[in-house]
Amino acid sequence: MTTDHDTETMPADADCLFCKIVAGDVPADVVASNDRVIAFRDINPQAPMHVLVVPREHYGDIAQLAAGAPDLLADVVALADEVASEQADGQFRLIFNSGPHAGQSVFHVHGHVLGGAHLGWSPA
Ligand code: C5P
Repeated sequence: MTTDHDTETMPADADCLFCKIVAGDVPADVVASNDRVIAFRDINPQAPMHVLVVPREHYGDIAQLAAGAPDLLADVVALADEVASEQADGQFRLIFNSGPHAGQSVFHVHGHVLGGAHLGWSPA
């Protein structure tokens, strides 16, 4: 199904905030990166560790990433694990909001890596 928030899979989007962070055109507190994925602290943290893991290539949401580049999704998960090992105790929650009703506000796929405390469970 196509909805108005869907974005095309593409190398970069000139209007995309996270493409600008990947390019270094918008500042971010980067904690880890490699040639495919970047991790930076969320500006509005919801846990002691709250880092966003973002593929450098532009995909709109996790379903598009999984369909278009499943190896890159695995790279995103691997960097989340690496960050959690370095920034917390190696335990983490990884959340991908997909669509506005789920809370997605930036339409460049990103995983929220949360940890550093015992996390509750209250998504609503
Ligand atoms: O899942 P969602 O799309 O809402 O997540 C976007 C996240 O990006 C928010 O948690 C917001 O705090 C974060 N953000 C950021 N740096 C920016 C803009 C947004 O960390 N410059």
